[in-house]
Amino acid sequence: MYTRVSADIAERLAAIVGQDHVYTDKERLTPYTHDETPGLAAWPEVVVRPGSTEEVAAIVRLAAAERVPITPRGAGQGLSGGAVPTAGGIVLSLERMNRIVEIDHANLMVTVEPGVITGDLHRAVEAEGLFYPPDPASLDSCLLGGNIAEGAGGPRAVKYGTTKDFVAGLEVVFPSGEIVRLGGKLVKNVAGYNLVQLIVGSEGTLGIVTRMTLRLLPLPQAQVDLLVPFEDFQHAADTVSDIIAKCIVPTTIEFMEREVVKASERLLNKEVPFSDAAAILLIQLTGRRQEEVEADMEEVGDVCLDHGALDVLVAQDRPTRDRLWEARRVIIEALNHASPINRTEDVSVPRAEIPALLRGVHEIAERIGVQMLSFGHAGDGNVHVNLMRYDLPDDVWQERLVAAQRDLYRLALSLGGTITGEHGIGATRRGYLSEAIGAEAVAIMRAIKDAVDPLGIMNPEKVFA
Ligand SMILES: Cc1cc2nc3c(=O)[nH]c(=O)nc-3n(C[C@H](O)[C@H](O)[C@H](O)COP(=O)(O)OP(=O)(O)OC[C@H]3O[C@@H](n4cnc5c(N)ncnc54)[C@H](O)[C@@H]3O)c2cc1C
Repeated sequence: MYTRVSADIAERLAAIVGQDHVYTDKERLTPYTHDETPGLAAWPEVVVRPGSTEEVAAIVRLAAAERVPITPRGAGQGLSGGAVPTAGGIVLSLERMNRIVEIDHANLMVTVEPGVITGDLHRAVEAEGLFYPPDPASLDSCLLGGNIAEGAGGPRAVKYGTTKDFVAGLEVVFPSGEIVRLGGKLVKNVAGYNLVQLIVGSEGTLGIVTRMTLRLLPLPQAQVDLLVPFEDFQHAADTVSDIIAKCIVPTTIEFMEREVVKASERLLNKEVPFSDAAAILLIQLTGRRQEEVEADMEEVGDVCLDHGALDVLVAQDRPTRDRLWEARRVIIEALNHASPINRTEDVSVPRAEIPALLRGVHEIAERIGVQMLSFGHAGDGNVHVNLMRYDLPDDVWQERLVAAQRDLYRLALSLGGTITGEHGIGATRRGYLSEAIGAEAVAIMRAIKDAVDPLGIMNPEKVFA
């Protein structure tokens, strides 16, 4: 059992970080009660905002000695409730640790603290001709520590992979309070178990990331963006798998169904080209040379037209490009606007199974009687299926939500996929982990958790049922 945060514990926390960085009053606790998961909230007893690794370690040692649970927190942009303090206790916010420590051109690496906003890192390295590819759609609000803890992806995963592919080294405060440095500025490193990758995607349940070394690439010099409308959503889905089968690797292939595009249009109060089409693909091609990118563009355009595309709109300059992408960037906000109660699902399947997945989603929606709107990273097999309540009565919604979620997960698993591609298990998908990966794999994960965090203080009530 856990200990409540007494006045004495709050005072000892203030002695570590300074009184200004300890919040206990309701007004300042409120923003830390939730993340971006609709309908999930819980009160922390105290919020602590350390400014250094040593302060993080001292807080963890105090929490371990007193058996107070800790929920690490980045920007609270998560979509599975990972940063919601469901067990009360301390929310440990990394927002003040926000320095870009070093951009190392000789090694193509950058060292950062966890509180750096992802988009700020993009801009800082791009100004020096370098490139950090992971690009969650929340990049102008989420923090790099949150990206590492979630193993975040983004549209550019088709070509470059996800956050996990760019982490070379980490500094971690483990639940004992020990500060451990893992990995380094190394391209090759096989000394022992890969603990760096154990921490990536561990959702704050194994320790707190306090510094990281990330890989960089040269900034691509050429870029073309395409908007491709289809009158049949299935044709759009078939096009995605055909592009991949032809061994063309765009940087992104994003998919949006008509109702999703319409919701974005309503939010933006602006027309999106071909918004009446059944589905739209947004395709980005990048490379070192313009000729190379244009050759790929011709080939991709031909595949799209062969599958019945209504048109292929090309954007070469920044303003046109931004206009094409605007509707995609605001989707989650637009869907929240259309139905404040909804659930974003995040299934992932082998890329060739995208057509079967989208067909199956339509079948489930019709059979169960709940709107399921699909959009997302079709090029890497990760589709966000949004279950919308609209005006369904609460009891009907709850029942249909559970049935539709269960059938969606089972559909993804039957296609060789999984229940979450980038948003994580967190608090919302715990009940399905065993079905997704098997009881044996869960038991191994549980044993790791118990070995690293025997008191169970690090982000309890997450990942495991
Ligand atoms: C509009 C919108 C679009 C999104 N698009 C994408 C997308 O394209 N791809 C994608 O992958 N996700 C996406 N997300 C989800 C979310 O933005 C990511 O999961 C992101 O990585 C969360 O970062 P954060 O800083 O907000 O983390 P938080 O929500 O604060 O925390 C997330 C988890 O990480 C843990 N944590 C945070 N910091 C640390 C740390 N330093 N050490 C240890 N644990 C830590 C927390 O305990 C929690 O479990 C989107 C969310 C929104 C709202």
